[in-house]
Amino acid sequence: MRQPLVAGNWKMNGSRASVKELLEGIKNGMGSVAKAEVAVCAPYIYIPDTQSQLAGSEIAWGGQNLSTEASGAFTGEIAASMLLDFGCKYVIVGHSERRTLYGEDDALVAKKFGVALAAGLVPILCVGESLEEREQGITEEVVARQLDAVTEAEGIAALADAVIAYEPVWAIGTGRTATPEQAQEMHAFIRAQIASESPRVAEAIRIVYGGSVKPDNAAELFSEADIDGGLVGGASLKADEFSAIVSAAGAVDKG
Ligand code: PEP
Repeated sequence: MRQPLVAGNWKMNGSRASVKELLEGIKNGMGSVAKAEVAVCAPYIYIPDTQSQLAGSEIAWGGQNLSTEASGAFTGEIAASMLLDFGCKYVIVGHSERRTLYGEDDALVAKKFGVALAAGLVPILCVGESLEEREQGITEEVVARQLDAVTEAEGIAALADAVIAYEPVWAIGTGRTATPEQAQEMHAFIRAQIASESPRVAEAIRIVYGGSVKPDNAAELFSEADIDGGLVGGASLKADEFSAIVSAAGAVDKG
């Protein structure tokens, strides 16, 4: 059985004070729910505070991006080793905002994925189509291309130590969620793509859904066979909402 994962992506939000309050709320809201794994991906500058507050808890933390380089003259960049220095377990790679706003292409995302993995971080690889691509009927083609870029560069076995987030771009931050059926269809497609190369990796890998996950749609999404939790943006900034999503993931029983 795959343990569900609920990871918060705070993006560029918060202040030192609000992060403190949010983490306190999330810790208090964890209750007895240990069935789902929980992580928060903080802005770089708040990772040390996040580490101090979460150390010793069951909640993991991570970054939202990383450099392809190990060190050197790369102004403004953060290396994998720096994330590890502050206890990060996860790092988001290839978020659609990085792809669209910062020009990260499949090759760069694949490189970041490889660097994260080699350093010992767990990459959360984001894939997903734009609205235009869905309307053109090329959703599967786009997602397959994004996946292939990583497996061709790193090998299928590399996915065994990673998480995939299926995030239809049209559902991110828009309040427009993919229906459970739409999401399940793509999760099953992703798993089948992986299974064609390695049934073992396909069975084990967690494929989480991202795109306007909220307390009122989380249970339904997470109960789909191939949806192993969520990557949560907006709702991860509110402790009560994030905790409710974590509870929904922990309560799912897929037998
Ligand atoms: C995200 O940023 O990965 C995300 C899914 O955002 P939201 O939940 O706000 O749609």
